[in-house]
Amino acid sequence: RGVRTAEAIAVEARYGASNYAPLPVVLSHGIGAMVWDVEGTAYLDFLAAYSAVNQGHCHPRLVAAMASQAATLTLTSRAFYNDRLGPLLAQLCTTFGYERALPMNTGVEGGETAVKLARRWGYEVKGIPDNAGRILFARGNFWGRTIAAVSTSGDVGSTRGFGPLVQGFDQIPYNNVDALEVALKADPNVAAFMVEPIQGEAGVIIPDDGYMAAVGRLCRKHRVLLIADEVQTGLGRTGHMLATEHDGPDARADIVVLGKALSGGMMPVSAVLTSDEVMGVLSPGDHGSTYGGNPLGAAVASVALDVLEKEELCANSVVRGQQLREGLTELMASGQRGSDLITAVRGRGLMNAFQVKDDGRDGGTAWRVCVNMAHAGVLAKPTHGDIIRLSPPLVVTEEQVETALESIKRALRAT
Ligand code: PLP
Repeated sequence: RGVRTAEAIAVEARYGASNYAPLPVVLSHGIGAMVWDVEGTAYLDFLAAYSAVNQGHCHPRLVAAMASQAATLTLTSRAFYNDRLGPLLAQLCTTFGYERALPMNTGVEGGETAVKLARRWGYEVKGIPDNAGRILFARGNFWGRTIAAVSTSGDVGSTRGFGPLVQGFDQIPYNNVDALEVALKADPNVAAFMVEPIQGEAGVIIPDDGYMAAVGRLCRKHRVLLIADEVQTGLGRTGHMLATEHDGPDARADIVVLGKALSGGMMPVSAVLTSDEVMGVLSPGDHGSTYGGNPLGAAVASVALDVLEKEELCANSVVRGQQLREGLTELMASGQRGSDLITAVRGRGLMNAFQVKDDGRDGGTAWRVCVNMAHAGVLAKPTHGDIIRLSPPLVVTEEQVETALESIKRALRAT
């Protein structure tokens, strides 16, 4: 490790909070699927900021939109109108087929917005008695770090010492239609079920085909809002603009939460999409954010959506994802030294993971594989000690996927 890397890590360690455990790589610039560290070493970025950089690092159209809008008008608050927000809202509604959109900044604020909408809809439209409304969440969910978000979490690290938690939230097993049906039959006061079409932070957990469609049908039957948390799965990541599309029209959610790649990694921009009926529960003063809907974010998000479409990034996600999984599956079956560490390969589009045998030593096998992958020129992050997520920018090329597969092979041999 070079001096510049060590210095950068030391200053963070000295002045920062230790709420993350980054790989010891200090990045200073990026373009497309490539990033460089402060020593000048190049890497393929196979995390893409947890799927926020779908359009690739520093996409020239996004840089241009950002620079131009930054020099024009950046923030008005919602005390006044700005000339960028309206066009973005219209573009969001047209692109995804919803009637209304509400802008926020981070993904967790989007989730929070969805939960608030659902609760109020429950009381004012569905007729749930005051303060009796419940919202169901899938076990293993991750939608951020606020008190509301961690109140739906089963992960001890997320909740320990942060109580008391928010009431009115229940967890049911993921990928289990029967469990949802039982919960909905048992309680008429459920306003919504919030779920990721593929669970990201849980380790790229892909439900059975038809799960989201069955969930959609059940929610409609019981007059419960289906909230799809597409913060990670949306915007081309799984090969569709929305991951629920994989399961057909029955899986269409009543409320969709988008974030991350909505700005292509330039700045926090999130949005909640829904119907007239649901959005209609909000009046002036009920909800908002100083930066939500800012003209800088709106201008960038408009272009970020356009890039996904014009560059056909959903289609690239499908073919490159297939190439990646085929390569990994071949590697797993090859019998080569180190490759026998792989126990499973899964994914959809460019939302992928492979699992390794965890020996529990030195931070776990997955951590050591990721360190060796970094040495071999590919950046990825382990989750849960035995899962390595592979989610490069959707602009990744065939050659880059080949290179990454070679690097993974070398990294496994060295582990
Ligand atoms: N929802 C999902 C599915 C996520 O993966 C994340 C972040 O990883 C969030 C919500 C929260 O987004 P943010 O970190 O922007 O608040």
